[in-house]
Amino acid sequence: MSRFLSERHTALKPYVPGEQPRDRQYLKLNTNESPFAPEQEAIEYALAHARSYELYCDTEAVALRQALAERYGVPPECVMVSSGSDEMLNFAFVAFGSEARPALFPDITYGFYKVYAEVNRIPYTEIPLEDDLTIRLERYAGRKAVIFLANPNAPTGIFLPPEDIARLAQRSPDSVIVVDEAYVDFGGASCVPLTQRYENILVVQTFSKSRSLAGARLGFCVGCPQLIGDLQTIRYSLNPYNVNSFTQALGVGVLRDEETVRRNCAAIVENRAYLTAGLKALGFVCTDSMANFVFARHLRVNGGALCQMLRDRGVLVRHFDQRRISQYVRITVGTREQIDRLLDELRAILGGL
Ligand code: PMP
Repeated sequence: MSRFLSERHTALKPYVPGEQPRDRQYLKLNTNESPFAPEQEAIEYALAHARSYELYCDTEAVALRQALAERYGVPPECVMVSSGSDEMLNFAFVAFGSEARPALFPDITYGFYKVYAEVNRIPYTEIPLEDDLTIRLERYAGRKAVIFLANPNAPTGIFLPPEDIARLAQRSPDSVIVVDEAYVDFGGASCVPLTQRYENILVVQTFSKSRSLAGARLGFCVGCPQLIGDLQTIRYSLNPYNVNSFTQALGVGVLRDEETVRRNCAAIVENRAYLTAGLKALGFVCTDSMANFVFARHLRVNGGALCQMLRDRGVLVRHFDQRRISQYVRITVGTREQIDRLLDELRAILGGL
């Protein structure tokens, strides 16, 4: 730390991303990326349609917002795009969080919420999950807050039906509810339609998972025009050129072929069932995940130790230090071949214990 770092940030604990190794060929099941590359047609579309690189990109991302609006059946003024959904989540913290409207989120959820609250100095409360790792929404109702709900939740994968979120919005007219749907395409139902009925629901999504574009950094949100206007004010105050020309065009290119996205998601859903069954046969207990990962614990081995043993065998999965979930590992759902390799390694590890 230099002596110049602002005293506001000396205690800041930054987000720790999952490992992205460069040194050795690992089987990477640790950061919930798609095992499928984007279609070549989408890349070619982007190369042909990206605005010339010597000019700044379209700050309004008109073509991409129009394509998203058509895909989700909402007006373009209800849509905004960002550099990954992480950036959108930060915009939402800055736009809606304050002393008067603190943030609320579960104690076990996406780790970035806490970091964004801290770095932006927004007071926050973490509401414990129930013992079975589910979210009880009554505990969030009737307050004046900005509520962040990953749905499905991460890292549990447990999904809340949109009707429950609609009820929370009705019971919390002074709260903004940010529904982080990073993993919704793997079997969940989206709250996007609710944004057209509730002025206090904002849905955030990403192209990183179901649309295979984690490296291109593209996220978006859907909400009423007033919420979007607030977020645009923040975006224009922080980073108006937030989504580069190539990524904007690539987003449009991928949206032109939703059939491939649907097929890929169906494969992940099928492979999730296959992975879950394989893990259960080895003595793991799994949450009921609706995401592209499985959250599993084994009665005989701690999650941290298992993660390390897998790493030693060239397989990366994710472990979280938090006490309540230290027994678990989170495993990204890959291809059949990747799952078979993981299960073989687990069989060898457990057999040797
Ligand atoms: N929300 C959740 C729940 C996530 O797990 C992630 C992925 N780390 C994100 C948002 C952010 O993804 P991205 O910035 O790649 O869109």
